[in-house]
Amino acid sequence: MNSRGVLFIVSAPSGAGKTTLVRGLLEREPQIGLSISHTTRAPRPGEVDGVAYHFISVERFEAMREAGDFLEWAHVHGNFYGTSRRWLDERLNAGHDVLLEIDWQGAQQVRAQFPEAVSLFVLPPSFEALAQRLTGRGSDAPEVIERRLAAAREEIGHLREFDFVIINNILSQALDEMVAVARAARLLRSSQMSRNPEFFKSLGVN
Ligand code: 5GP
Repeated sequence: MNSRGVLFIVSAPSGAGKTTLVRGLLEREPQIGLSISHTTRAPRPGEVDGVAYHFISVERFEAMREAGDFLEWAHVHGNFYGTSRRWLDERLNAGHDVLLEIDWQGAQQVRAQFPEAVSLFVLPPSFEALAQRLTGRGSDAPEVIERRLAAAREEIGHLREFDFVIINNILSQALDEMVAVARAARLLRSSQMSRNPEFFKSLGVN
């Protein structure tokens, strides 16, 4: 299936600074729409329903999954997460870019359906920095942090499946790199041709 907007996948181990980077990218590239996932995890302090996530019950998640509402879904850190298919399809088909912040399991499922998706992996500058950032967040219990560190190692194990790697050492630099990737992805021949079919037809290129 060839979509007209560019589909970006951003994955990272928890604590790599992915959410901050994505927020910065969307400010600088406002034509990219962020897909808001559904999750069964409880909101963290300050997280608003419908903004960070759609926070739903396990029962509702299972009902949506059975109804085929999810493009992809995964069980991460003991909770369910999923990307709803409808908004994403509509937006891509209207020629707009979409960004998914999902884990490696979701990334695999999305790639199988959208092989042209452009995937980025965000790394912390070191594993120690990651551990520090996870502890520093202060909103999660120690066993949750331990689980996240183990999951971080697993997530990093899937690095080779991604097209681009951003090392988040200096935030402003990492953000510039994210913007560079987004702009380059739009200039890929495949992106240009699926976004402007009439133009290429007028040149006799199909
Ligand atoms: P957090 O609970 O810290 O916001 O996210 C935990 C993990 O779940 C992160 O790795 C994040 O990328 C992943 N995640 C968030 N939304 C989705 C989703 O819709 N699908 C999948 N597969 N993973 C998600």
